Amino acid sequence: MDELSIDAYAFGILTDFRTRLFPGSARLVELADRVQYLQVEALCWCGARALHNARTISGEITVDGDQVLVGDVNSADAVAYEVLCRRHYRARLTAKNAKSAHISSQPLPFTSEGENLS
Ligand SMILES: [Zn+2]
Repeated sequence: MDELSIDAYAFGILTDFRTRLFPGSARLVELADRVQYLQVEALCWCGARALHNARTISGEITVDGDQVLVGDVNSADAVAYEVLCRRHYRARLTAKNAKSAHISSQPLPFTSEGENLS
């Protein structure tokens, strides 16, 4: 608010489940004097910084659908979201899928922590 000499702060999610900026987020970034990530970082199940919001339907990651779709934490079959690091977002590996992969009899296609997946 330059004319009023007022500092304005905005907080929120920057990108959608496809890693695309929300239109409002894009405009805020374009006009901002400064963009700063909060000190309280969201963490992926692997412990890495989580900057991606994966949309899941019945526990499986999807990149289809409207940009805004409200999740439902009370239904296993419903839409939900999970924050993931870039590596696990790209590998479409949620915490649930990673856990089942470790207990399956199939060998993992990587040696540790998702190496060679990207
Ligand atoms: Zn991760």
